[in-house]
Amino acid sequence: MATNLVDSLLLAIEPWRCVLCRDTAYGMDICADCIDDLPWLTRSCRRCALPLPSTGIPLCGNCIHVPADIDHCIAALAYDYPVDRLVTGLKYQRKLLFARVLGELLAIRIKEALVYGELEIPELIMPVPMHRWRLARRTYNQAEEIARWLQRDLRVPVESSQLLRVRNTPRQTSLSRAVRLRNIHGAFHVRGNVADKRIALVDDVITTAATVRELAQILKRAGAAEVQVWAVARTDS
Ligand SMILES: [Zn+2]
Ligand SMILES: [Zn+2]
Repeated sequence: MATNLVDSLLLAIEPWRCVLCRDTAYGMDICADCIDDLPWLTRSCRRCALPLPSTGIPLCGNCIHVPADIDHCIAALAYDYPVDRLVTGLKYQRKLLFARVLGELLAIRIKEALVYGELEIPELIMPVPMHRWRLARRTYNQAEEIARWLQRDLRVPVESSQLLRVRNTPRQTSLSRAVRLRNIHGAFHVRGNVADKRIALVDDVITTAATVRELAQILKRAGAAEVQVWAVARTDS
């Protein structure tokens, strides 16, 4: 409440500045023109958010053959400029303000999906967990930072203690697809009761979807009723 009041007062004194073009923005960190110019994903696979070439095909070639533990996967944007700069700024340059920017952008897409009945509102938001060694080095989990802004915007609680990364896997981006799929198996553990819950997993970028597929599988095995995946961005392979 107090933070909202401070935010309102600051806004009254000084207008927001767009983080991309420095023009005036209204109540957000990005101006309306820059929002329009972002690489929004309009057609993508229902289970892994891979961009699809045409309408009418709900699944990509990979997802037709894998178990459907993910009920719905949404990535708001393509992992292209300037989204990639915002993500890497948050992840590797400690620009924590960018978590709010990315959270605001993801919230735009999620609210649209809720309004159009594409998604049902989840009971819990769970950020994709980071191994405690990596967390100790970085001091924050970027997925959790983004999830915090979604919690505030969508009024859905964030639960970050029930999913654990129990194995510290190498960075997925440096590995081949087959190795990534093998590598992630058994890397996570569910602690706590998720039975009958509708859960949204939140991540910054989906690369192969191996991580979110594995998480969705263990959540379903633990009794989760529905697993949605919300990511800010998706790579195109
Ligand atoms: Zn702008
Ligand atoms: Zn797919």
